[in-house]
Amino acid sequence: MITSYLQIGGSLSGLMCGIVLVHAGHKVTIIEKDTDERQSHMAGVALGSDADQYLASHDRMVNAFSHRSLRVQALNADETIRIFVNGRRDITSWDTYYFRLRAILDHNNQQQTQTMADLVIGADGPDSFVRSKYLPTTKRQYVGYIAWRGTVAETEVSASTRETSRRSVTVHMMHRHHCIMYTIPGANGSLESGERLLNFLWYTNESQGALQDILKDRIDGRKHHNLVPAGRVREEVWNAQIGYTKSVPLPTPFLEVMLKIRRPFIQVITEFCSPRAAFEDGRVLLVGDALSLFRPHTAFSATQAAFHASRVEEYVSGKISLQAWEVRVLRYSCLHWAQSIWWGKFYQDHMSIAVLAGFRYWWYCGTDRVLSWWNMEDPLLRTSSNRVEEYDW
Ligand SMILES: Cc1cc2nc3c(=O)[nH]c(=O)nc-3n(C[C@H](O)[C@H](O)[C@H](O)COP(=O)(O)OP(=O)(O)OC[C@H]3O[C@@H](n4cnc5c(N)ncnc54)[C@H](O)[C@@H]3O)c2cc1C
Repeated sequence: MITSYLQIGGSLSGLMCGIVLVHAGHKVTIIEKDTDERQSHMAGVALGSDADQYLASHDRMVNAFSHRSLRVQALNADETIRIFVNGRRDITSWDTYYFRLRAILDHNNQQQTQTMADLVIGADGPDSFVRSKYLPTTKRQYVGYIAWRGTVAETEVSASTRETSRRSVTVHMMHRHHCIMYTIPGANGSLESGERLLNFLWYTNESQGALQDILKDRIDGRKHHNLVPAGRVREEVWNAQIGYTKSVPLPTPFLEVMLKIRRPFIQVITEFCSPRAAFEDGRVLLVGDALSLFRPHTAFSATQAAFHASRVEEYVSGKISLQAWEVRVLRYSCLHWAQSIWWGKFYQDHMSIAVLAGFRYWWYCGTDRVLSWWNMEDPLLRTSSNRVEEYDW
């Protein structure tokens, strides 16, 4: 019988798994290598239907902590708007979500100091130490593009730009690159009008050679790998990107926000999907980004974390077998990983290549349908259009 739990990694997946175990009456030890107060990138984290279900079971706080968008819309070069997809999307920020989960966990759990455990959960992110022990060749891969990112306070932009983003995720598509913009909570999770932030991302394809220069640290000149944090992007690199807006050119709301970003950061887009999730006869599990890292276009990592945590709950309570646990989490992750690749290639690549990625994704969707029907379960595929609903403006 499993009685003690050790979790490696105390970010969103780690906290979500910790909460389900503590609520089931277990004591959990979480080992987190970052000892400092956690710093968000002040970027958006979308909740999804799995996160909704998870929070409905485990979160007793009633105050909202996410901003609701009702659609994804395309802003065309002539500044007309076209609705891309109607669908609810609740978006929070990493630190708002992190401290919400911490409040639930810390309230219920007294951290243990033991290091012996019956079950180890690897929630240690894309560069997982746990995964590297069992799957040393499964590593994150650069997908050929990066995101130029930053946030601007709502109060700093014009009323028309604010209105464009009020209830919409807005995309501007160009030839093999695109920008996206949406509203997220402000400092301390504030959802008050004027205190929220506009979150801006511009994805551009960059060669390995160009990355050598782009990823060089402003202060010590060393090359970053997956992220150049705020405060470390070289001024000439950011200014060159601003200069590039003139030749593109970006529609006014995007240009306005980009020019007002004071603390830009750069994210290198990487991905992988593990072929296995359980080791040592089910005594070691992988969850969250340690198991599968998606491209960001579907904003799905926190949803995946919630799905994995809920399945861990079912596994440790004996509702599902280890084999059923592993099959479900792998199928879910592989399906949404393929979905994120399809969207990434749609935005950033030649249409012929995107269509090939699309065929693979649609094949996974078909397989999901058939297997779900065969097993008499709900399909694992999640789409934003599952959640279309009216909202009181
Ligand atoms: C500080 C931070 C800020 C983030 N900000 C954003 C954001 O603004 N927007 C966004 O979309 N996503 C953000 N993310 C990523 C987001 O949390 C994940 O994509 C997703 O929610 C799933 O998270 P995860 O817990 O599986 O992995 P991660 O969030 O990557 O967490 C892994 C955790 O494991 C810890 N860890 C790694 N190795 C070890 C080890 N050997 N021993 C102990 N601990 C270890 C890491 O320090 C980290 O806290 C952020 C992640 C972090 C860590």
